[in-house]
Amino acid sequence: MYSIHIDIHENTCSERLDWLMKLRWIASLMVFAVITVSIHLFHLSLPAGPLYLGNIILAVYNTIFWWYIHKTHNSSNQTNNNHKAQTFANQQISIDLLLLSYFIHYSGGLENPFIFYFIFHMVIASILLTPKTAYFQATLAIILLAIIGFSEWVNLLPHYHLAGFLHPEACNLSVTFTAGVLFSIGSTLYLTVFLATSIEQRLRQREVELAEANTQLAEQDRLKSQYVLTVSHDLRSSLSTIQSCLTVVLNNLTGEIPIPAREMISRAAQRADNLIIFVKDLLNLSRIRALKDLEKVSLKLKPCVNKITEHWQMQISEKELDVKMNVSDDLEITANQEAIVEMLSNLIGNAVRYTPRSGKIKILGILDKEPGFILLSVSDTGIGIHPEDIQKIYNDFYRAKNAEILDKNGTGLGLSIVKQIVDAHNGSIWVESTVGVGSTFNIKLPIANAMEGSSDDKS
Ligand code: ADP
Repeated sequence: MYSIHIDIHENTCSERLDWLMKLRWIASLMVFAVITVSIHLFHLSLPAGPLYLGNIILAVYNTIFWWYIHKTHNSSNQTNNNHKAQTFANQQISIDLLLLSYFIHYSGGLENPFIFYFIFHMVIASILLTPKTAYFQATLAIILLAIIGFSEWVNLLPHYHLAGFLHPEACNLSVTFTAGVLFSIGSTLYLTVFLATSIEQRLRQREVELAEANTQLAEQDRLKSQYVLTVSHDLRSSLSTIQSCLTVVLNNLTGEIPIPAREMISRAAQRADNLIIFVKDLLNLSRIRALKDLEKVSLKLKPCVNKITEHWQMQISEKELDVKMNVSDDLEITANQEAIVEMLSNLIGNAVRYTPRSGKIKILGILDKEPGFILLSVSDTGIGIHPEDIQKIYNDFYRAKNAEILDKNGTGLGLSIVKQIVDAHNGSIWVESTVGVGSTFNIKLPIANAMEGSSDDKS
């Protein structure tokens, strides 16, 4: 449990470093605007040189951090990386505090109302760092402020009054003022860290619980699929036996049968056919869900597409569909052959089933614009999909109304299977469709998938 906690937090930490650097760009612009407005518009007598220099330092070190982070981003050791990210965040926040103290010193010291900007840093530290380190940052901030406050009070450092902003009498430093400000800002900083780290800890705890619940659900889903797999398998064997028996009777091999009986047996045979299709889909879906990893091999796509198109040839000819295929010869991916054939069969089968007579189907396979990916698309001039159905068509058993009217025999499982297969190959699927005009299903798959899953995963 503890290790999950750390992993989640550390992963988030490296992502949030990016966020911290973005915040710093915004801060740099804001600081520039505040200095310029204060000096040139409100004519505050502030030392422009050191303040602008501070802003340049801010922009320069943020650029260096940005460059460093993107240079080391692809390092392979994730745990090590995340540990580095935490240390790096800690160092960055310390440097930010130093620079903020520098700005505060050159713009009125403890008189400056922007002193409360230290609170933002405490919130950021509480989000990015461990509670202990966040308290360390609060202590560092208080020490830096104490150094500024007392050094200016005893004239070790020059004090830049906020003349023009505060009444001249309010600018007289005293020990009471210095100690009072330090006490109020110090207690605020510790309180902020206490509140922010408590909230952050609770959120992290929730994240861990959710991750665990998710793992349990996934495992239960896999077990359920395993169960459905066994049941569907038994069902299919029995149904196939029923179907063969009915075929024997229908072919008069058991003797001549009366016409009314033939009609009833034909209907039973038709129902058995539909049920076999349904159970086959259920079996395929459960099989893919029950597998943790698919065994993958190097696979040429064109022969797979040819095979499926041939499989649907009878229906294509019956409906006089114009099928055009343009799949590059050398298109090769690391994938599970059985799964890819199943995926293509569902997509091309749907295009055939949902395209009216004399319609057109186009199958395209190319290298994608994004390097390392291929793009496969199946377009048809069929019935199309309503926008409100598009999100639902990948759900188990979902069928759109227009599809149900055209083809009563669908199961609503084909696209579920396709989605599972695409996910198992780390790909993506999306559809563009206009009702009455046609649909295009696009699938993007990585060329090289990890050769995970060995022979012991086969089932
Ligand atoms: P089935 O086709 O058996 O109903 P699928 O899961 O394959 O199940 O498809 C789910 C639904 O998506 C279909 O019922 C249909 O509404 C819609 N659909 C899928 N492919 C197409 C297509 N090429 N054209 C129009 N609608 C489609």
